[in-house]
Amino acid sequence: MLWYQGKVVDIIKETPSIRRFYIQVPELETYTFQAGQHIKIEFPFNVKKNYRQYSLANAPNGSNVFELLIVLDPNGLATNYLFNEVDIGSSLKVSEPRGSFVHKPDADKDICFICTGVGLAPLRSMYLDIIKNNVPHRHMYLIFGTRYMHDMVYLEEMEQLTQRGDFTFIPVLSRETSDEWVGRRGYLHQVYKELFADKPPVDFYICGWRDMVSEARQTLLDMGFSRKSINFERYN
Ligand SMILES: Cc1cc2nc3c(=O)[nH]c(=O)nc-3n(C[C@H](O)[C@H](O)[C@H](O)COP(=O)(O)OP(=O)(O)OC[C@H]3O[C@@H](n4cnc5c(N)ncnc54)[C@H](O)[C@@H]3O)c2cc1C
Repeated sequence: MLWYQGKVVDIIKETPSIRRFYIQVPELETYTFQAGQHIKIEFPFNVKKNYRQYSLANAPNGSNVFELLIVLDPNGLATNYLFNEVDIGSSLKVSEPRGSFVHKPDADKDICFICTGVGLAPLRSMYLDIIKNNVPHRHMYLIFGTRYMHDMVYLEEMEQLTQRGDFTFIPVLSRETSDEWVGRRGYLHQVYKELFADKPPVDFYICGWRDMVSEARQTLLDMGFSRKSINFERYN
């Protein structure tokens, strides 16, 4: 595997526990990857597993800077390091891109992206890439599950995307109690069950923590969707 010395060139505090890290690889003119892939970061920890994987959150853009969307695990080794030790200008050892969780274009099908929290990262890379390169597609749905309003990410971008006409954003909050929230509440599984009850041609791309991904896969299989149409990436 190829490794590079990356340099953190920007950090955006997206929510109290989620940050966007922009990492440059100065030795490359272009950091080449496919939308949906992930990288490894190697940490200076004296433990057996000293790396963690993170999805590339931006669409490939020909530059040598990429973006990561990372949530702090209060008990986590790597994320505590990233949130407490890393700043703009810090160096991070990053790998070449990896993984086969990538978009398979099919002009005759809708695309449904399903995620919770930072599981959005590789899906965002895919839909921004589809839009940027005019990849033939039918309608795109993004079902995004999280707990509270203050956990929502890329809000301005979501508003712009929904103006396009070919992109429907459906956030679903599981624990929000405020009346200010007028969107959907509960768990995201109900949303795709309703939307695709008639089984139209759809390709699914699912990303997030194990339980959500397993439940979504099983539910879609039970609904009669083929294994081939259900693409997924698990974070644990
Ligand atoms: C392909 C892929 C892509 C990913 N992309 C992203 C991404 O884009 N963004 C993102 O935020 N995350 C992503 N992840 C998850 C990421 O790799 C890390 O797992 C995550 O950041 C947590 O790392 P950590 O070192 O902070 O936590 P860890 O130190 O690994 O701990 C994780 C949890 O396990 C518990 N734990 C640790 N050791 C033990 C033990 N011995 N016994 C019991 N419990 C224990 C800790 O309490 C903690 O709650 C991805 C994972 C994969 C596989």
